[in-house]
Amino acid sequence: MLQKELTHPIFNIVSEESQKLGFETFVVGGFVRDIYLKRASKDVDFVTVGSGIQLATAVKNRLQGAHLNVFKSFGTAQIKTSDWEFEFVGARKESYDRNSRKPKVEDGTFEDDIYRRDFTINTLAISLNKDHFGKLIDTFNGLDDLKNGIIKTPLDPKVTFSDDPLRMMRAIRFATQLDFFIEDQTFEALKSEAHRLSIISQERITDELQKVIRSTKPSIGFKILFDTKLLDKFFPELVRLQGVEFREGKGHKDNFYHTLQVLDQICTRTDDIWVRWSAILHDIAKPPTKRFVKGEGWTFHGHEDKGSRMVKPIFTRLKLPLGEPMRRVVNLVKLHLRPIALTKDNITDSAIRRLIFDAGDDLEDLLILCKSDITTKNKKKEERFQANLVHVEENIASVEERDQIRNWQPPIDGIEIMKMFDMRPGREIGLIKTALKDAILDGVITNDYEEAYKFVLEMGKQLGLQKQ
Ligand code: ATP
Ligand code: MG
Repeated sequence: MLQKELTHPIFNIVSEESQKLGFETFVVGGFVRDIYLKRASKDVDFVTVGSGIQLATAVKNRLQGAHLNVFKSFGTAQIKTSDWEFEFVGARKESYDRNSRKPKVEDGTFEDDIYRRDFTINTLAISLNKDHFGKLIDTFNGLDDLKNGIIKTPLDPKVTFSDDPLRMMRAIRFATQLDFFIEDQTFEALKSEAHRLSIISQERITDELQKVIRSTKPSIGFKILFDTKLLDKFFPELVRLQGVEFREGKGHKDNFYHTLQVLDQICTRTDDIWVRWSAILHDIAKPPTKRFVKGEGWTFHGHEDKGSRMVKPIFTRLKLPLGEPMRRVVNLVKLHLRPIALTKDNITDSAIRRLIFDAGDDLEDLLILCKSDITTKNKKKEERFQANLVHVEENIASVEERDQIRNWQPPIDGIEIMKMFDMRPGREIGLIKTALKDAILDGVITNDYEEAYKFVLEMGKQLGLQKQ
């Protein structure tokens, strides 16, 4: 009996109001599952054999400070308090049409409602009926699957996935979040029904993908997505990272598995999903930049630049936000090799200043990415690489403290340069701006207005511009 888990006063109220209305009501799905997983949840779904809207209305009147939303066309209602969300829905039966994940819905029994659910671990229910208050109803042995860590559909997985292909993404998301194993037949159906993902909107697919990425160990989900070929359907660039090629006895690492390791490693250092995305995309342009140089081996020259230019088309297709989050990912991908270059000997302060300037507010995240990008299996090497990066970090801190480069702008900006020569924006103005910035960062001139003014005048003269 689970009475003691039903601490919120609403459970008793729902029980009493159901009794009055003559409805049988149950708590179902995620909330029940999460009790056993010891994940406290404040989202509760109630299924009633009767009208969900009628029940919710009666319950709302007895709960202080609660808000009721009614969705007439769906026959559902929602009660919100400051921190809880309760969904009320009448038990239903579903039948599917091949071209849509929206089923035809009719009223049904409690069993009908349990049968239409996605995984056995989500079919658990708790009775709120007077004589059985708190009793667990486990129609499909969901509790055993929960204890054994198994994701399995209650009915034929092929039918379940073909009916609503979003469930394939949900299976993989749960396997990742909970570190569960997908039962063999269910796994086979992910492969055979992968093509059905085409009827799901990209927003919904991406929503589940983001949940995978927010998990403690996202590689679990990406490996299943890869093995089932679901990944091909929406993220072919990542699939192309897989594989190794040998020539003249020289190979390169498998960039797919390398990327997944970097992603898992970055997850131990940051919860920021966009920094996690920079790990996913940091080597994305390795396949299109791959060359074999005779006598030398494999090179991926320029993969950081090309990769940074691949971010926007990928974000656009995946319907990810194109503003500030994407700007950060682009910057991190573009700069991901720079701190490594600073681990060499004889690094000048000006090289460090330049990185601080280029990275701006992304500098800490960039170092997190670089530390996570170390995947050598050799313990000694790994320690040395990490120590090198800590050293770079210290150098950056001391240069930054002295020169305050971050968020620094040259004393003369583009607009002033245009005014000086009565010019419109164009190549010359860009050249002068960059040269001025470089001259100061390299210590050729000092960082003050007078010197900058002289420098700009001189540059203008060389380019044949007239001072106004
Ligand atoms: P989370 O809240 O962590 O996303 P959840 O399992 O609670 O996980 P919800 O989307 O809140 O997911 O759905 C609540 C319940 O509804 C699920 O536990 C499941 O029983 C059922 N359900 C949700 N989506 C589907 C679906 N696509 N097909 C079948 N049943 C579903
Ligand atoms: Mg939920």
